Amino acid sequence: MSSVTVRVPAKVNVQLSVGPLREDGYHDLVNVFHAVSIFDEVVAHESESITVTVGGNWADRVPIDNENLAIQAARALAKHAGRTYGAALVIHKAIPVAGGMAGGSADAAGALVACNELWGLGLPFDDLMEIAGDLGSDVPFSLLGGTAVGIGRGEQLSELPTGGRFHWVFAVAEGGLSTAAVYAECDRLRAATGAEIPWPQLSDPLLEALGAGDARKLGAYLTNDLQPAALTLRPQLADTLEAGRQYGALGAIVSGSGPTCAFLATDAAHADRMAAALTTSGITRTAIPAHGPVPGAVVV
Ligand code: ATP
Repeated sequence: MSSVTVRVPAKVNVQLSVGPLREDGYHDLVNVFHAVSIFDEVVAHESESITVTVGGNWADRVPIDNENLAIQAARALAKHAGRTYGAALVIHKAIPVAGGMAGGSADAAGALVACNELWGLGLPFDDLMEIAGDLGSDVPFSLLGGTAVGIGRGEQLSELPTGGRFHWVFAVAEGGLSTAAVYAECDRLRAATGAEIPWPQLSDPLLEALGAGDARKLGAYLTNDLQPAALTLRPQLADTLEAGRQYGALGAIVSGSGPTCAFLATDAAHADRMAAALTTSGITRTAIPAHGPVPGAVVV
């Protein structure tokens, strides 16, 4: 086999509940991930060494050195297999970079699946999940896809049933936000209020809405504890969220650590209309209609 192509989705968090800051600097989370139909493509070509090139949208903002998560994933897989392997990875990006949609994690998951196939390793899914967990807390979900809840740091995943397809619009912001900076701002805002932070709990009405495929109810129960911090760091996102509500969004939320904003639509036609309205009004330059849930990283 001289090359393998893998398609891997973006995610939105339909619930992101952040517990108190732990002594190790992390937070306990209840994180309900939902994979949506914005896909990066990762192609692994036979090669002597592990390299990466990146094309597509926002490619100039993706590192092509050891910082690239796809390179790190390929190296981790080779190490696990106990041999020196090479792969020329070619990433085509459609997932916003540093946008709170796990684009880097998606590419890491894509590289794991592509190199597992290219190198003929035949490692089972569970082994890939274990390597993925060491690479970053969002990487296992990028492998799994669908809808799933992560607890702890987010890496202990359980799949959640969904009763249908949900339609979304994602408003891409100019420039990214650093996930670490958003968590730090969240801690700062909380310290300033002095309020006790409750232990995060999975939302029952949210689960019911997902299970029933009820977009209206899901829209009402979308939650993101990082949103106040993202809005403090990027106040104009409040206008973006408000515009989506005016165009009939059933729910409007910052995606993960932001700055991408996610809007839940009633159906595919409404998502298309909302995306058009958000761009023609000048609220955002790029609004992407998408649906979920979709599968995780798959060879195409
Ligand atoms: P998350 O939602 O998981 O917090 P994000 O979607 O906000 O992440 P990413 O798109 O994953 O953010 O990018 C975060 C940073 O990771 C980028 O600023 C970039 O420097 C780095 N990075 C490393 N590898 C990649 C990659 N393959 N694609 C995108 N970013 C990458």
